[in-house]
Amino acid sequence: MTKKIVILPGDGIGPEIIEEAVKLLKALASEGLDLELEYGLIGGAAYDETGTPLPDETVAMSLTADAILLGAVGGYKWESLDISVRPEKGLLGIRSKLNLFANLRPAILYPQLADASSLKAEVVSGLDLMIVRELTGGIYFGQPRGIRILDNGEKEGFNTLVYKESEITRIGKVAFDIAQKRQGRLCSVDKANVLESTELWRETMETVAESYSDVELSHMYVDNAAMQLVRAPKQFDVMVTTNMFGDILSDCASMLTGSIGMLPSASLDEGGKGMYEPIHGSAPDIAGQNVANPLATILSVAMMLRYTLNEPTLADRVEAAVSKVLDQGLRTADIYSDGMTKVGTSEMGAAVIAAL
Ligand code: NAD
Repeated sequence: MTKKIVILPGDGIGPEIIEEAVKLLKALASEGLDLELEYGLIGGAAYDETGTPLPDETVAMSLTADAILLGAVGGYKWESLDISVRPEKGLLGIRSKLNLFANLRPAILYPQLADASSLKAEVVSGLDLMIVRELTGGIYFGQPRGIRILDNGEKEGFNTLVYKESEITRIGKVAFDIAQKRQGRLCSVDKANVLESTELWRETMETVAESYSDVELSHMYVDNAAMQLVRAPKQFDVMVTTNMFGDILSDCASMLTGSIGMLPSASLDEGGKGMYEPIHGSAPDIAGQNVANPLATILSVAMMLRYTLNEPTLADRVEAAVSKVLDQGLRTADIYSDGMTKVGTSEMGAAVIAAL
């Protein structure tokens, strides 16, 4: 059956990296993978054309898609807009409209890039960590929120951190399921010593654990987790955490692997529909120069093949092709080191397809 993939290039380097991923999808389609690609607008590009960062048309086509491939959104041009129409609102909006509550962010260190990490090679080599971040709840969405004027005339900014038991249970199940297929170790990260909402998070994770006797659950406060990630990251197998803690910890984990340009992500709903995107942003500082690393986006296609299209063999092939181009010594500027061959975005994309 034909699978519909919605392509949302977005802003900055988004269109450049998406172009390489689309070439890869077309190469797979030419071998028999039955795909239909449809393009939509999101972020600043959508705002410029329609006055909103998330047009209804984009939501409608995404709702009927099997999977969505997104580049990135945002850029200097839109920074002074009202927050309600900034590009990032488009991203938060689509995650929430599609109920993509589970964000999977692997941090894998390719041995070829061990020297690109800011940590010592022995601390990170062989790192294979999965961070499962809750994506549609918590402080990024909680109400009430805003900036108000106090009686004395001073301004006060406020946000609300809320989690329902049902929200914690469903993200917990996703994380336990993943841990079951890996090394069977799950670390739940919270701040239960200070925040009641994460005290409930901890209690609820314990309840979910009762159905997963083969997974070893541990708990860690987020400040310690940040420290442990840079001290001894290989102690972790799967981590599960709230929206904001996951946002921060997964960026931290990404740097253990050398470059933000290498890491894919998946955001899934309860039925397995997914939005796939690199974890990095729109990198406006390098946009339009053919220097961005397309591998995070290409590896996002591999995740799409694995988690939504149910094509694990093709996913393995894409990942092996990425490993092969690294073996060949090809490097975009962000992962370049002496003795390697520096290539641009399009050369890297073409090399992956050739290696496939
Ligand atoms: P960023 O990830 O865009 O860039 C951080 C640094 O990493 C920059 O120096 C950039 O050049 C580099 N970088 C990022 N991706 C790269 C790649 N593929 N290849 C090589 N180098 C790469 O983060 P930022 O600078 O904080 O944000 C820029 C814009 O992106 C902002 O508007 C922000 O809101 C937005 N943003 C969007 C997303 C998203 O769409 N998912 C995520 C984060 C930030």
